Amino acid sequence: MKDVAYIGTRDKNIRMKASEAILKGICPDGGLFIPEKMPVMEKSIDELSKMDYRGLAYEVMSLFFTDFTEEELKYCINNAYDSKFDTPEIAQVVEKEGVYFLELFHGKTIAFKDMALSILPYLMKTSAKKNDIHKEIVILTATSGDTGKAALEGFANVEGTRIIVFFPNGGVSPVQKQQMVTQKGKNVCVAAITGNFDDAQSAVKSIFTDAEMIKELDDKGFMFSSANSINIGRLIPQVAYYWYAYCQLVKKGKIKAGEKINFTVPTGNFGNILAGYFAKQMGLPVNKFICASNSNKVLYDFFRTGTYDKNRDFMLTVSPSMDILISSNLERLVCMLTSQEETADLMKSLSEKGVYSMTAKAYDIVGEYANEEETFQAIRVMYANADYVLDTHTAVAYASYSKYVRETQDTTPTVIVSTASPYKFAKDVCTAIDEKYKDCDAFELMGELEKISGVAIPAPVKDIEKREVLHNNLCEREKIKDFVRDQLK
Ligand SMILES: *Cc1c(COP(=O)(O)O)cnc(C)c1O
Repeated sequence: MKDVAYIGTRDKNIRMKASEAILKGICPDGGLFIPEKMPVMEKSIDELSKMDYRGLAYEVMSLFFTDFTEEELKYCINNAYDSKFDTPEIAQVVEKEGVYFLELFHGKTIAFKDMALSILPYLMKTSAKKNDIHKEIVILTATSGDTGKAALEGFANVEGTRIIVFFPNGGVSPVQKQQMVTQKGKNVCVAAITGNFDDAQSAVKSIFTDAEMIKELDDKGFMFSSANSINIGRLIPQVAYYWYAYCQLVKKGKIKAGEKINFTVPTGNFGNILAGYFAKQMGLPVNKFICASNSNKVLYDFFRTGTYDKNRDFMLTVSPSMDILISSNLERLVCMLTSQEETADLMKSLSEKGVYSMTAKAYDIVGEYANEEETFQAIRVMYANADYVLDTHTAVAYASYSKYVRETQDTTPTVIVSTASPYKFAKDVCTAIDEKYKDCDAFELMGELEKISGVAIPAPVKDIEKREVLHNNLCEREKIKDFVRDQLK
């Protein structure tokens, strides 16, 4: 098997093995790691369609994580994708109203982040062992709501690691917040941080690129890493479910092996959809990716015009995990379409002026978006027609997909990537279905949602309002470095 090296998006002379890139998270110059050459899937769809999720995940990940042994990688996969998921398929495909929903919310925190964050701690521990690193790994994470909880669940009580999660004060749903502040584990810390998600992400990034602080903590036996989707240890595991969804459709006789399909992905930081794009580069038969945004439609504008412009008002929407104006992973696509030199220039322009333009284009990615009313309507319509309750993020994708079909008349079979359980956003989901719920309490509405949807309250959020709050920190974003130093005393 050929070795895949990881190089920087701003400097191709930065070059590491997969395990080193997983440990580092981000390049020293602020760039991200990308595979120097995209591996090609050599197994046929027919062969892959016979595999279960773990088997398929191994086929995909072994092509990217080439410095892991078979035993190491299987250890990681088998520990990640087990009975923590409430369905043996791990990622389930369901057909409603002529489209397919890939339900990625059957893990411990009922959002798709579990798909990658269930395995990241194992990949990281294995990487540390392989590289003979004995420092305590400190995971620093900014979250728009779902990453934080999934990372906390993944890393809680994992020997040799600590995790500190920052969520934007007032920027997450009540259920998301309650999930985080009740997190147990002797190595976990959760804090609200002033500002929005982009502020939180920039504050965390400023630590990763602060050589002095890194040295100071290195001397004390700590090493920082990231659980955000900038880490290839998160991105690559997500490639697997695009293959899995495709194989499920073949297995069920819905499509023929080799036939192209579309994917619609509710997008924020551009991690999920980029994993799909990687799958296509490896050989998965995909026609278009529909990149769905909410009212923070910076990506929609980018794919329509070639100009990325974050200079606009940040909106709080009913799909908070997509409330983002700086989609970090887009840098990887930009680099794949241009060069390291050009990417470095564009990212400099982004950080100095908040805007950049480029002419190179990904013709297989289409930008769409849905505003708040369209999102609510999508939930209402799907419920009325199919008794199927969408969460707000998946609803953005469904509404965007409907617009795309109206615009293009494209009838390609389509998978909508379903990123969260409606229970995580019970209040907005119920209100979309019936206005009468608009002043109700989010936690009370879980019982109501059980009646409406006919799906039992998932164990991870049942009675969550009764759990004890264990974390009550508020961090000023200018003081994030002191906050982290304090935690590591
Ligand atoms: C994180 C998240 C998204 C956005 O995914 P990206 O990889 O950041 O684009 C969409 N929906 C939900 C529910 C999420 O948690």
